[in-house]
Amino acid sequence: MTTKTVLISGAGVAGPTLAYWLARNGFAPTIVERATGQRSSGNPIDVRGPAFDIAGKMGLLPRLRAAATATTGLAFVDAQGRRKSRVDLSVNRATEVEVPRADLATLISDAAADSAEFIYGDSVSALSQDGGGVDVTFEGGAPRRFDLVIGTDGQHSTVRSLAWGPERNFVSHRGLYVATLPVERELNPTTDVLLYGMPGRLASVHPVRGDGGIAAFIWRSRPVPGYDYRDTAQHKRIVERAYAGGGWIVPDLIERVRDAGDLYFDAVSQVRLDTWSQGRIGLLGDAASSVSLFGEGSSLAMAGAYTLARMLAEHRDDLGQGLKAYEYEHRKLIAPRQNGFVTAATLMVPATRIGVVLRDNGARLLTGWQRLTAGRGRKGR
Ligand SMILES: Cc1cc2nc3c(=O)[nH]c(=O)nc-3n(C[C@H](O)[C@H](O)[C@H](O)COP(=O)(O)OP(=O)(O)OC[C@H]3O[C@@H](n4cnc5c(N)ncnc54)[C@H](O)[C@@H]3O)c2cc1C
Repeated sequence: MTTKTVLISGAGVAGPTLAYWLARNGFAPTIVERATGQRSSGNPIDVRGPAFDIAGKMGLLPRLRAAATATTGLAFVDAQGRRKSRVDLSVNRATEVEVPRADLATLISDAAADSAEFIYGDSVSALSQDGGGVDVTFEGGAPRRFDLVIGTDGQHSTVRSLAWGPERNFVSHRGLYVATLPVERELNPTTDVLLYGMPGRLASVHPVRGDGGIAAFIWRSRPVPGYDYRDTAQHKRIVERAYAGGGWIVPDLIERVRDAGDLYFDAVSQVRLDTWSQGRIGLLGDAASSVSLFGEGSSLAMAGAYTLARMLAEHRDDLGQGLKAYEYEHRKLIAPRQNGFVTAATLMVPATRIGVVLRDNGARLLTGWQRLTAGRGRKGR
């Protein structure tokens, strides 16, 4: 039996997880990544639920724990930096781990490195399939043929554009923008994420292990006319305008945005498609079903990769059927997450002043409840 070849476009979270599990199921995966290497920073993201178990099966947990942020809670502060309320996050740390996204992607890529071919600094530029395989043209490298092509190239997927059509047909802006950048640890020397909320705007500084931190801005806005997700100078102007007049350390953060060499910026969007496969071309992760930053997209990407590898192995002689079987299974996890977006956004970035007060009081109540239940747990032991 000949080994089936799979081209995976994108070495983020989904792509290398898929490569790892495909190789262990007897496939020959190749990953092409547009960037020349992993980016230096990344948003802290939680690996939890099925993804935590999958990371365990991949032997990643000790390295993930070593790379984990030291976050112990969320603390909401006022314009003077005084704490108003706090939510304890240390309770679930046995079954989840928070790591910067770039560290997660690097660790998974390292785990897959011995069993997959990695091509950095290139991209698919054309796809043409027939009954026996997919002919792939690259921007840089020579054309090649694969048994299967999977797009794991994120929210702005090239594979999706080539096979399904323009992004505007599938990607919907959810009324928020997000920007993140690495900052010095001094801006938040605590182990809590510090959050400052104004109506429709949230600014935060996340502690990261070592001497760094991640500042994040999430704010409500209609689609910005002429928005270009690749235009960093435009992004800096948009953040500056959105946070003008902000209290706390917002003016300091804006100064850092102006000088930032590593600013992440995007519209908070969801991706919805009627089908995640077309013959021998499939989609996984944010490319197929971005749930936005509130929906645990990384954990879902890892869970989807595991399911896809399993289904392809079960349908080795009919890979198109394997893609359909994966979609049937994995949509069960995605649908509730996409539908939960409005609640999460309302809680994290309330649109009104009263909403901010309610959110902070809610956080206080939650903390009180946590203390109470923790006390009960201790007494019962
Ligand atoms: C601020 C923020 C906070 C978040 N918090 C969380 C959280 O707490 N928990 C959580 O689970 N998720 C969180 N997410 C979501 C999470 O980051 C994504 O859902 C997850 O990274 C999706 O993984 P992916 O592999 O599908 O795509 P990505 O991780 O986006 O990877 C896509 C890869 O494809 C590459 N690529 C793009 N175009 C091409 C091309 N043409 N050719 C080759 N390669 C290409 C990119 O360079 C990138 O490496 C957050 C997101 C943001 C923005």
